[in-house]
Order: sequence, then C-alpha cells, then structure tokens
Amino acid sequence: MDDCIMIDNLVVFANHGVFKEEKTMGQRFVISMKLYYDLYPAARSDDLSKALNYAEICSFVTEFTQTNRCCLIEAAAVNIADALLKKYSVLTKVEITLKKPWAPIGLPLDQAAVRASRSRHRAYIGIGSNLGDKKGYLDLAVKKLSEDESCIVRKVSEYRITEPVGEVEQDDFLNGCIELDTLYSPHELLYKLHEIENAAGRKREIHWGPRTLDLDILLYDSEMIHDSVLTIPHPEMAKRRFVLEPLAEIAPFARNPVLGECAVTLLERIKRNGTS
Ligand code: AMP
Repeated sequence: MDDCIMIDNLVVFANHGVFKEEKTMGQRFVISMKLYYDLYPAARSDDLSKALNYAEICSFVTEFTQTNRCCLIEAAAVNIADALLKKYSVLTKVEITLKKPWAPIGLPLDQAAVRASRSRHRAYIGIGSNLGDKKGYLDLAVKKLSEDESCIVRKVSEYRITEPVGEVEQDDFLNGCIELDTLYSPHELLYKLHEIENAAGRKREIHWGPRTLDLDILLYDSEMIHDSVLTIPHPEMAKRRFVLEPLAEIAPFARNPVLGECAVTLLERIKRNGTS
C-alpha cells in the first residue's frame, strides 16, 4: 500500500532532551509525517468523513509531543508513531522524521534528526485450554488482546473440541485461532501472551500436560525466527490438525514461510496422511 498523507515540517515547542536546560526551557522540534492508509474510499466518495483529517492529526501530534517528554529524539519519534497507529486504526504504517534544529552541541550545525518507521504486523495466535472453564479461558484471551491498545483482534475462529496429543492422560482440549494486528515485536508479543496465560492461572508443571490456557504465536508476518525463547513459524504448526483447522478457517491462504505453503494446503496434507 503506497497511498499516504504527507505532513511536512510541523513546528512544535517541547521539552525533549538529555540536558537540564532542554528539559526546563524547551526548544523547537520540527516533525514530518508519512501516514499510510487506503485513501481510495475517500477519493471515490470525495467525503471528508472517510478521510484522515490532517488538521486534527497536527493538533494531536502537537499535544502529544508536548505532554510526553523524552530524553532522546529516537524515543519521541517512535512514541509519536505508536500513538498515531493506536489512535487511527485505518493507518497501516507511519513514518516520522523528527528534527532538532540547532541542537545544543557547541558546534555549528543545521539540525540533528531521526526517522522512525512503525507498522502493524499480522500475527496468528493458536489458543487452547483443557482445564476448568475452557471456553471462559479462550474468551479471556480474546478479551485481553482486544483491550490492549497495541493490538486489534481482526478475526476469531470457531472453538473446536479436540483430543489431546501425546502420552499424558488428560481431558479434551478446546482450540481456536485469533488473527491479530499488532504493534508489538515478536518477543514483546510472546511476553504479552505469557502475561495473559498467567492471568488465566496457567501453571507450567507437566510438559505437554493439562493447561488452563495455552497461547502460541503460529505466524508473524512472514518472519522466520529461531532463538532461545521463540520459534516462528511455530514448529508444531504444520503437524497439528487442531492448529491448522481453525487457522485455515480464518486465514486459508496464510503462508508458512519456512515450508512455503498455506494453511489450507498443510491441512489437506494432514487429512490425507491421517496424522494428528
Ligand atoms: P508452551 O508450553 O506452549 O506454553 O510453550 C513454552 C515455551 O515455548 C514458551 O515459554 C516460549 O518461550 C516457547 N516458544 C517458542 N516458540 C514459541 C511460539 N511461536 N509461540 C509461543 N511460545 C513459543
């Protein structure tokens, strides 16, 4: 999506900076923005209510920049971008250039500046429960993510009763899948999911054992990550019918970038081969 509104050189008097004088006396900052969104509905209708109002955006950014003080212009620029993405759900990406003219370094320079780019990321979260109020726990996960201002829940699959996989004797699971747009990085998202699992009273006692709530990142854009805490795409994703069925229901063409195949193809393969 290349459509965007551009706002150039909005001047804001604010108090960002490392030095005491910068914090107390303040100085001018100059902000330019590229706000990406689909402007075709506004163009087709020629209707202001379908467009982003750049006067309103300038007022919002001015007030935000003045009331949220940072030491670094890096922090200020990213905070402005995040605030815009949180406030305007139609935005898919924001680029902020934040300039500090005549930065106080004792040498002649025009300006120091940073450019920050932030966008929403599409993630798919596998959700499961096999202890207590299973539906209640899955609903809790959806609610907690919906209430988080860094997330937009786009779709939720049907919940399915599925038999447990593995050696441990345990109750049936209830499984589903969430399509999420998020500003979190993959590791921030994992941390958020752990918080929600803990809020559901999740205890990590038996590996593969019963759990009130299990939240897994199946896909995150087309990222491939493997480190000590996180593997994306989720390594079990392609082997598990209880993961692929709800995923294929809400996103049949979501692609596993490692295997190069989409959810519906992976599901068909599992059905043919008759595994879990
Ligand atoms: P689980 O037993 O399913 O809750 O997973 C336990 C651990 O798996 C978590 O603490 C994560 O550090 C790790 N993990 C690795 N990759 C993923 C992923 N894609 N989604 C969720 N957890 C993951």
